[in-house]
Amino acid sequence: MLPRDPSRDELAFLLEGGGSDQDLFAAARDDLHRDIGDVVYMRGLIEISNRCGKNCLYCGLRRDRQGLDRYSMAPEEVFSVLAGGYRLGLRSFLLQSGEMQGIDHLEGVAAVLRWCREELPGTRMVLSLGELPEDGYDMLRASGGERYLLRIEFSSPSLYRRFHPDDALHSHDRRVEALQYLGRSGWQTGTGVLIGIPGQTCGDLADDLLFMRDMDIDMVGMGPYVESPGTPMAGIAGPAPDPETRTVLTLRMTALVRLMTEGVNIAATTALQTLSPDGLERGLMAGANVVMPNLTPAVYRGRYDLYSGKSEVNDSPERIIGELGRRFRSIGRELILEDPGDPPHYRERMMEMERNHG
Ligand code: SF4
Repeated sequence: MLPRDPSRDELAFLLEGGGSDQDLFAAARDDLHRDIGDVVYMRGLIEISNRCGKNCLYCGLRRDRQGLDRYSMAPEEVFSVLAGGYRLGLRSFLLQSGEMQGIDHLEGVAAVLRWCREELPGTRMVLSLGELPEDGYDMLRASGGERYLLRIEFSSPSLYRRFHPDDALHSHDRRVEALQYLGRSGWQTGTGVLIGIPGQTCGDLADDLLFMRDMDIDMVGMGPYVESPGTPMAGIAGPAPDPETRTVLTLRMTALVRLMTEGVNIAATTALQTLSPDGLERGLMAGANVVMPNLTPAVYRGRYDLYSGKSEVNDSPERIIGELGRRFRSIGRELILEDPGDPPHYRERMMEMERNHG
């Protein structure tokens, strides 16, 4: 149903709802079944710090936000969460924080990675810490980091400028270069975009799809825009599309990425679940194959306040995993434990790199 090499106009047409969503999602599931299987992999999410040096206009963690109780977890606290998740069968964890260039932060993360390599064999650590200097990525990789998620947010430089302050910290070019560096230095590389922000068109989202395909990424973590009260967004943009419109746009983006790539891991994100109570199932039925239960200790969880109404389940990790397994079985999907769930695309890409350099 999707042309082999879709044009921007063809993608925009489908994103606008010009085709059948049922057919689109079924085609995406067929591709997933062929390339990876009817499985769901888990990444245990640990929000290790809510500090950030940047000031993205839409984000509740932005540097200038007043009144947010900032925290950074000590490595020992992170070890304990990791060990608990490992005992339950998790073999991949995502360490996430705002963007900080300070060496203390990176050394703390490196200590966690080294501990994990020694104590939790067979685990793949995913990092989402924003842009770093190249030697920062190298140091984290040498310490045991294997996957890095750096969302481009907007492939359009003009939209990127609109929603990020015009200061020395924000550069669309530099962000693209960082993604390219991650890809060629051997990281499993992920990116993603923000979907349904006011003023964004289906043409912009079509460009995002083409960008993700052309960057040859291994993982996708994208989600709908969710408002964060108290950020400057209210002053610069009109209202966002209603939550269901943003949800459906995200599902169409998920299906289209699945159809335009081969063997990549695609997450059904917390933001999708925030806008729609069955957002995880809907994301999986549109071609996603990864979920990221939040393992951040309760004492910190509410303070990682990215946007309003963030979906949280205040239950033990054991019960959360059991419940997710039941929910996914009901839609014909098997939750996989004790397997880090490498994307086949990464193996292919590394073999290709070796051939080109060999
Ligand atoms: S989106 Fe990321 S970099 Fe921007 S303010 Fe929020 S946490 Fe910081």
